[in-house]
Amino acid sequence: MRVSQMLNPTLREVPAEAEVVSHQLMLRAGFIRKVAGGIYTYLPLGWRVIKKIEQIVREEMDAKGGQELMMPIVQPAEIWKETGRWDLYGPEMFRLKDRHDREFCLGPTHEELITDLVRSEVRSYKQLPLLLYQIQNKYRDERRPRFGLMRGREFIMKDLYSFDRDAESCKISYQKMFDAYERVFTRCGLTFRAVEADPGAIGGSGGSHEFMVLAESGEAVVVFCSECNYAANVEKAECLPRPVQGEGEIKIQTESDNKVYTPECRTIEQVADFLGVKKSSLIKSLMYKGDNQFYLLLVRGDREINEVKINNALGPFINLRMATAEEVEELLGCPPGFVGPVSIPSNIVIAADLEVAEMKDAVCGANEKDYHLVNVRCSRDFVPQKVADLRMVTTDDPCPRCGGKMKQARGIEVGQVFNLGTKYSEALGATYLDEKGKEQLCYMGCYGIGVSRTMAAAIEQNHDENGIIWPMAIAPYHCIIVPVSIKDEQIASVAQQLYQEFQDAGVETVFDDRDERPGVKFKDADLIGYPLRVTIGSKALAQGKVELFQRKNGQVELVDVDKVCSKVKSIIDTSLNK
Ligand code: ATP
Ligand code: MG
Repeated sequence: MRVSQMLNPTLREVPAEAEVVSHQLMLRAGFIRKVAGGIYTYLPLGWRVIKKIEQIVREEMDAKGGQELMMPIVQPAEIWKETGRWDLYGPEMFRLKDRHDREFCLGPTHEELITDLVRSEVRSYKQLPLLLYQIQNKYRDERRPRFGLMRGREFIMKDLYSFDRDAESCKISYQKMFDAYERVFTRCGLTFRAVEADPGAIGGSGGSHEFMVLAESGEAVVVFCSECNYAANVEKAECLPRPVQGEGEIKIQTESDNKVYTPECRTIEQVADFLGVKKSSLIKSLMYKGDNQFYLLLVRGDREINEVKINNALGPFINLRMATAEEVEELLGCPPGFVGPVSIPSNIVIAADLEVAEMKDAVCGANEKDYHLVNVRCSRDFVPQKVADLRMVTTDDPCPRCGGKMKQARGIEVGQVFNLGTKYSEALGATYLDEKGKEQLCYMGCYGIGVSRTMAAAIEQNHDENGIIWPMAIAPYHCIIVPVSIKDEQIASVAQQLYQEFQDAGVETVFDDRDERPGVKFKDADLIGYPLRVTIGSKALAQGKVELFQRKNGQVELVDVDKVCSKVKSIIDTSLNK
């Protein structure tokens, strides 16, 4: 490809709207352009990267026996109503009506559609297991589309669905996909980690893992044990109950009824300071609304509530949110800072974290402005309807497997695998006949890779102040040929010859044939991140040589004109493990 012909608008300035490096560099290098919030056009170079990632994914899916098919993006509402997810998916689902007023959605995922296909087409155990996949656009009307391709509203996903005859065989399919994912992300040149995950809206009972590319800009937080191989998304990470403070340790003396005046103490810090107790002696009481029900959620004062665990313990909810100050005022007659679980109306459900159930002599809001209660104890002074692990893990928590020290890191979720069990086959009646002619439910798994997000994640991990440093396997082109001047006939003619030779040798090459200063060409080449650059200048050429530059390590060497093609080819083959 000739640069003069290429639609590759590069930008010198960092675009103001882009917060993360991958978004900035994709705009600057001319890979994407925004159409609407979370919706982008892939320009030719960006699209080549996407195609490369897709191809790696395709090869690894096929290697495990995956069969590629293509389902529609537009899906009828009926099938989603059969599983109950038409309502459960909530505002994230793009919905539309046809001219006859029939309801449809743009597919955010395809469990319903694929299960519908299999229930009508698969009859016998002989047809199982089946691994079916597609690579296509998905649509999710995200609350906060941001970071460019990282969180889009239209994005590219590979989704594979496995159908097996029993739980054991389903586990094998799950493991196959787990292994395939490790190969995909390794081949894409990424540093990643598989972590235990919550299945979220996809659901299923058999377990789930996310594949996290470790990067500071990641939206996810993972914890991992420094002693065993336990690793989990913080949303999912289990918290073991911790030792509690001894009874009477911080008993606070009051004149009567354990009520203390705490003027204007609205936050945990303010109350703890005022009373001279640790934050861990307080009960943090948060009013939530899950669909139409109010919940008072209790965690220790120094802990954070985990909404995913709340949803699992008390939901699933279509809508889970904190109650507003007005709602709290109306329910309890006090501002949110003074809420507590003692003597609240019985229509509010109390759910307490495991630690709260163990607390002695705790402090909590008195449901009266400027007052708190002290010496409060769970079960005696209030009775939660639910006691469960409801809080966010911290690095002070011991590993739930071995008790070891845990560490924390940020990650970008590039893929997730789910063992669904019979959730969808049961809801939709996807069965097969076993050897004895008996009808059995299919066991399912589903497995997603965010292709477009993987492109962003690769840039987050591979860049420097000059631009992108593509791993060879997903670079838009492997090599760029840069004549320092195209007006110099000798330089131009050698460049032209090399371009031809590289193409004939199957090297993916770009030829910078623009009449630009070398500095401009080098800056663009670095920004776009071609792994290799061959520069043709008169000084080296006088000795029959050209300069070979490697973007990855900045290494520069002079190579004979007639050897540079084979040298370039061997560097490429080595990095692609050919
Ligand atoms: P997230 O938690 O980041 O919203 P998810 O868990 O809802 O993602 P899955 O249903 O597991 O997403 O989808 C499979 C993969 O698709 C994810 O691992 C991710 O790589 C990708 N993906 C999901 N949502 C988006 C999005 N809005 N933009 C780009 N990629 C996405
Ligand atoms: Mg996910």
